[in-house]
Amino acid sequence: MSDTILEISNLKKIYGRTEVLHGVSFSLKRGGIYGLVGPNGAGKTTIMKIIGGLVYATGGEVNCYNTDGEVVDIQKARRKMSFMIETPYLKKHATARENLEKQRLQKELPDKAVIDDVLNLVGLSDVDQRKPVRQYSLGMQQRLGIANALMCDPELLILDEPVNGLDPVGIHEVRELLLKMNREKGVTILISSHILSELAQLCTDYIFIGSGNILKMITAEELEINGRGCFEIGTNHNEKAYEWLKSRYGERVSLHENIIRIYDQIDDIAALSEELFGIGAVPVHLVQTESDLEKYYLEQVLGGDDSKELPAPNEEA
Ligand code: ATP
Repeated sequence: MSDTILEISNLKKIYGRTEVLHGVSFSLKRGGIYGLVGPNGAGKTTIMKIIGGLVYATGGEVNCYNTDGEVVDIQKARRKMSFMIETPYLKKHATARENLEKQRLQKELPDKAVIDDVLNLVGLSDVDQRKPVRQYSLGMQQRLGIANALMCDPELLILDEPVNGLDPVGIHEVRELLLKMNREKGVTILISSHILSELAQLCTDYIFIGSGNILKMITAEELEINGRGCFEIGTNHNEKAYEWLKSRYGERVSLHENIIRIYDQIDDIAALSEELFGIGAVPVHLVQTESDLEKYYLEQVLGGDDSKELPAPNEEA
């Protein structure tokens, strides 16, 4: 089975006289969740639109591969891709079912059961089915947009800023849904955002883009090491506390220069403190260090504007 599902090489795009993609290359491996992260205007939507055939590239290639590693005709490959680019197009006065039925007919899907399947999948089957979409929360609307994109059982899902404007609950809902799609159906996902932390705990790989250039590609593990915050603990018996914490948090605990660091979410700090006290390791220092994810991201992506103004046709280069 071939690993790569999609590869873009040296992609260039000129809008008018401005080059906005300067030779972008990256590949997606089957089963991965890729975060395409960059500030406004970096070129994320343009890349997604080129993959979807909504705009033409000025140069470069998009290649898709089947599981045997053979190149698949892009038009054919797009039938196994679904896109949600910019705001999902939903008829707000219609119900979720009416919206999905319209999509089913457009995609010429014969089986009506697909509507129940996707509503189930995105956790909207219990919503009052008479409710028009305008009465849905933004998070529910995004989930419905994703349901729309899932109708044709895609291998590759391409989502442009699906958590933009959502509150933390909405972000959590979308994140859980995408993880479910990825784990249960093996869907490969390319998802964009201009806020790195929105994609944390979701992606397997991150592609940083700024001003039409790929700046860095890192795995989730590398990102975690580079950017995460942690919970620091010091006790009067650090060795004892460390062994005990290790039995609970495993590899997410380290002991370095008399400070124990837990790289995990701790919901009840008071309870943890009491438990440490109970084993005879009295906490004397308990500090949640700030996550440096955004700082790390800003360092990576906020370079100068690299857009190249091209000369007018009869100007000297
Ligand atoms: P955002 O996060 O704001 O959506 P983005 O990273 O998706 O940004 P793009 O929308 O791809 O960025 O835009 C990249 C650059 O191309 C920007 O400078 C934008 O102004 C320009 N651009 C996008 N679409 C067009 C168009 N149709 N005509 C001219 N310029 C365009």
